[in-house]
Amino acid sequence: MDKEGICKNLSLIWEEIEKAATVSGRKGEEITLVAVSKHKPVEMIEWARECGQRCFGENYVQEALDKLERLTQRDVEFHFIGRCQSNKAKYLPGKFSMVHSLDSMKFASLLDKRCGKLGETMKVLIEVKVAEEDTKGGVGPNGLFSFVEQFLDSIENLQLEGLMCMPPYFSNPERVRPYFASLRKMKDELEQRFGLHLPHLSMGMSSDFKEAIMEGATLVRVGTRIFGPRD
Ligand SMILES: *Cc1c(COP(=O)(O)O)cnc(C)c1O
Repeated sequence: MDKEGICKNLSLIWEEIEKAATVSGRKGEEITLVAVSKHKPVEMIEWARECGQRCFGENYVQEALDKLERLTQRDVEFHFIGRCQSNKAKYLPGKFSMVHSLDSMKFASLLDKRCGKLGETMKVLIEVKVAEEDTKGGVGPNGLFSFVEQFLDSIENLQLEGLMCMPPYFSNPERVRPYFASLRKMKDELEQRFGLHLPHLSMGMSSDFKEAIMEGATLVRVGTRIFGPRD
């Protein structure tokens, strides 16, 4: 994908976000496009930035750190959307502005301690396993309340901002809407139960971000539709 292609894709997606927001009575500016740049070269991030994109999602810590080092412009933010591996927790604070995929208290504690040492706070979302698929991470819906309870009891430097999910892929994106709706419902229930304000729902990818917006997404994670297919 060249720069022109990336810019064209971004313009189309921004338009589609605006439209999906409008038909569901929301404003386009309530939704942040996280451009998922995993496995794509840093040049593509720079091209997207030159076209106005500022927020990028990365799955692999070392790959993201290498890219951050090579970026010449600092006015971009990276969100971590990959598997949370304990030995990587120490690298996240100060580099990523948000973690979307928190799914273990062990990782939360390690990240929390590291943030404490550095005097930083980090925004986090809890990934929820909305479908029974062994290949995907996430906290099971039945364990979500007790997870949040433990989190609120023991974590000091992480700011819980909402929930994230990765539903199964359907060729008809209408079929994924119930999963998005269930995540929104869980967020509402957590807010009620714990008296929290959780501003974010991270849901929707290339194939279904419009449906996710109609169900309340505030962060959509789009890779292929911007940067082309990955190897
Ligand atoms: C790769 C990835 C995406 C982007 O997927 P596309 O289908 O390429 O848009 C979104 N979220 C997560 C967690 C991912 O790993």
